[in-house]
Parts: sequence; structure tokens; C-alpha cells
Amino acid sequence: MVQKILIVEDEHGVVHLLKSRLEPEGFQVIAAYNGQEGLRAVTEGRPDLVILDLTLPDLDGFEFCRRIRGQAETARLPILVLSGRAEEVDKVVMLELGADDYVTKPFNAKELVARVKTLLRRVSAPALPRMLRVGTLEVDLDRYMVSIAGQPITLTSKEFELLKILLEAKERTLSRAFLLERVWEYGEELDIETRTVDVHIRSLRKKLASEGDRIITVRNVGYRLDTTSPQVNPAPKDKVSQK
Ligand code: CA
Repeated sequence: MVQKILIVEDEHGVVHLLKSRLEPEGFQVIAAYNGQEGLRAVTEGRPDLVILDLTLPDLDGFEFCRRIRGQAETARLPILVLSGRAEEVDKVVMLELGADDYVTKPFNAKELVARVKTLLRRVSAPALPRMLRVGTLEVDLDRYMVSIAGQPITLTSKEFELLKILLEAKERTLSRAFLLERVWEYGEELDIETRTVDVHIRSLRKKLASEGDRIITVRNVGYRLDTTSPQVNPAPKDKVSQK
């Protein structure tokens, strides 16, 4: 797939130079010589990355960035800013506005091409799914999916939250009161008692089958999740730890 780069720059010489460096690298390059033209080229040309000059005749780079970031479909479009202004404050403002990188003129064309490639690689890398794993148990935090040895299981939202908190606690013992507060937002539902936690834990253990034995009851305190054993041996329900 050929990646398309839009150059928004009023200096023809710079556009020419960039084209001569980017095209041999296999990029398709389009150019716009002012801000309005640039905005139109973003919408119509659908570039994969924009190289943006900060000082344009009609619209400054800051405004350009703001408009690009304000539209859902271009909110994540990589923008590499090119400018003669070297002031540190501009760099900060630019990055805050959502520019992804910043190169000051006069620039080294080779370095600029390298930065373009880095930016494109960064955006094309798929976002890592947020997963929690222990033994054969897998919890996909983005998709709210839980599986054991690849087999999906269905949890209620409270069971899911309980499991997530126990996994994130990494062996720490969590009190019933803490779990109540976190999972049930205790205080809004005053009739909920700490026994509710026990009921949900019991149900969660059952659904997690052999992995359910990882949830250890800590007498008079609460629960913790045993992440050490590669596979917990089938054990009697409501295993009690004296810790
Ligand atoms: Ca300029």
C-alpha cells in the first residue's frame, strides 16, 4: 500500500526538496501552498501524514492543527510541523495542539524522512489490547471478555469488575469493604452488605472452574488472587488461607 504524504508549505523550493526526497522512498506526495488548500487536501486527498509549515500566508499552523484535530476523522492524522521559528515555546504549544513531531528549518532532509517513517510506523502499529492473564485465564479489558484456556465464559458486570480488581491487585489482599466500595460504589446503595461480596465471589469462583481456586479467602479480611501457581490444583471450594 502506497502511503500518501501531504505537504502544506508556501515555499515552492521546500516542497520541491521534500518531494525529491520522499518520492524515491516510495511515498506518494501531494502539496498545498496555503492553509485553506491544505485543509481541502486533507479532506479530499486523505493523506496518511501531513508535513505542515507553521507560517502560511492565510492560516497559521496552529489554527490548521486545531481544525484537523477538531474533526473526528482526522483527529489522529499524524502531523509533522516544519518551521523557521525555533523558539522553545512554539514547540510546546505545537505539541499541545496535537502536532506529533517538530522540525526546525533549516532541516536535514534525511532526518526529516526518517522522522516521517517513524511517525507512520507508530500510527500503523495496532494498539496493544489491554489484557490481564494468569494461568489459563485471560481478561480482555477493552472487549469485556473473559476466557479460560481459550474458551469464553460469561460473567456479570459485577463479577467482571471483581475479577479485574483482584487481578490488578497482584496478590494483595483486598478487604470486603474495599471491594464493596470499588465494585458497588457503596454509599449509593446503602442496603448492600459485605455478604454481597461473598455471594458474588462464590459465583465467580464457580464460573472460573479450576482457575476459580486462585481466589483465596483471607479469613476475617477479604480476598486475594493467587497468581503464583501455574495451574491451581482442584481443591475444595472456599479454600481458606490463614494469612
Ligand atoms: Ca512559510
